[in-house]
Amino acid sequence: MAWVKGHQLKLYNSLGRRLENFTPSADVVGMYSCGPTVYSFPHLGNMRPYVFADTLRRALRWKAIPVRAVVNITDVGHAVADSDTGEDKLEVAAAKERRSVEDIAAMYTQSFFEDMAALNVQPADMYPRASQYVEEMIAFAIMLEDLGYTYQLPSGLYFDTSKSPGYGDLALLDLAGQRETGRVEHVEGRKHNSDFALWRAEEPGVRRVMRWKSPWGWGAPGWHLECSVMSMALLGEHFDVHTGGVDHRELHHVNEIAQSEAFLHGDRPWVRYWLHNEFLLLNNAKIAKSAGPVPKLADLVEEGYHPLAYRLFLLGGHYRSQLDFTLAAMDAAQATLRRLISRVAPLRPLPVVETYEPARALVEDTDKAALAYVEAIDAAIANDLATPKLLATLQDALRDQDITTEGLRVVVAACDALLGLRLADLDPAEVDQRRAASDLTPEEVAAIERLIGERTQARKEKNWPRADEIRAELDVLGVQVTDTPTGPTWQLR
Ligand code: AMP
Ligand code: ZN
Repeated sequence: MAWVKGHQLKLYNSLGRRLENFTPSADVVGMYSCGPTVYSFPHLGNMRPYVFADTLRRALRWKAIPVRAVVNITDVGHAVADSDTGEDKLEVAAAKERRSVEDIAAMYTQSFFEDMAALNVQPADMYPRASQYVEEMIAFAIMLEDLGYTYQLPSGLYFDTSKSPGYGDLALLDLAGQRETGRVEHVEGRKHNSDFALWRAEEPGVRRVMRWKSPWGWGAPGWHLECSVMSMALLGEHFDVHTGGVDHRELHHVNEIAQSEAFLHGDRPWVRYWLHNEFLLLNNAKIAKSAGPVPKLADLVEEGYHPLAYRLFLLGGHYRSQLDFTLAAMDAAQATLRRLISRVAPLRPLPVVETYEPARALVEDTDKAALAYVEAIDAAIANDLATPKLLATLQDALRDQDITTEGLRVVVAACDALLGLRLADLDPAEVDQRRAASDLTPEEVAAIERLIGERTQARKEKNWPRADEIRAELDVLGVQVTDTPTGPTWQLR
């Protein structure tokens, strides 16, 4: 049998903004994903980069490419303004909550890990903490200083972006305007708006909580520095993949690249593939914490949605498309997850099929239909991680009359290795954690029964539009009505 590699994996590289064949440069692909700033609960939008990065890892595994994944934990250095001015996010949160910065970091790091586990995101190989790498960051900045890339101001040590060839290429900044982006704050003495702090010195009379001694005085590292330093420390000077939310493409990653390529004496590109997920919107608007509390995963769970229904919702959009979060979309995702799990549960136990080659080998001589699905799965994931197509392929296979049960098992297992929806083991009863009818207050029960009464009346009067309207209303409340010869009964979905 000829060895078939399947479809060439193509990924959209932000560096150059084009779809490219993915070719690893090492036996193990180094992959660095910008991690959470642990100063508050991550919101639903913050989950998207990690589900996306997890999908990429699963795709690489499918293609039998080993990965070493690093996700940093930003527990120091991220200033309130994303550039570098203002206070540290962690210190502001600690003061507000009257707790130590260590407590704040530990609590929100824990909450991040819990969310990741609930979303079935595979753990990274390493989670370096920024606060543990400050000595290395200082050494890195000293090197940049020796190479002539920096200048010192009373507020800290700055990177001179005019010395960086190709500064802003990733963001497609235009040359004329590249260093004069209007969205950054004025910093006294800064030569160009885009110059950024490698080291943020304490202001006279202000003592930071997290402070280190450096050649530029007591202070703390700049936010961009940590990712360059920790990624190189753990993945080597050059590595293959760097991911993050699309906002990072415009500033944070631009600055990471500038300082890293300076550090590497201009050996470009520092990292070969840059991948960015688009944003999650909330009711079609940009998520803004200033507009009130932004829902987090725990809020959805409290409402009775399964975390994996949120993962399914995310995978229903392509990672490079904006995705609008609404409760109606969550309802649909929850219903789809419920149907999927009850459909696949009788097929269990599923085989373990994580890579293309064995998946193909399992079906190629026995089941033509299953083979076609394995090829379709491969084509979808290789096409820049087309998860919506993958979900559609799974649904098609589940409806197909021509596939054998054995073949279907392989196809479902292969889809799940890429989708991570726990099709192999999620308990159908666990999917629906909506409140049981017995948890409803008497007022809620009365309201539901009043609606059902109105519906019965509307039906008697043959007012079908009104009856349908009430049914839709009940649907939103999660109430499922069944008409029996003795009258309607109801239960919570
Ligand atoms: P932070 O903890 O603020 O550093 O953000 C963690 C990750 O979430 C980063 O990769 C951001 O780019 C990403 N992110 C922030 N807001 C959104 C959003 N609304 N949709 C998708 N990703 C986001
Ligand atoms: Zn980063």
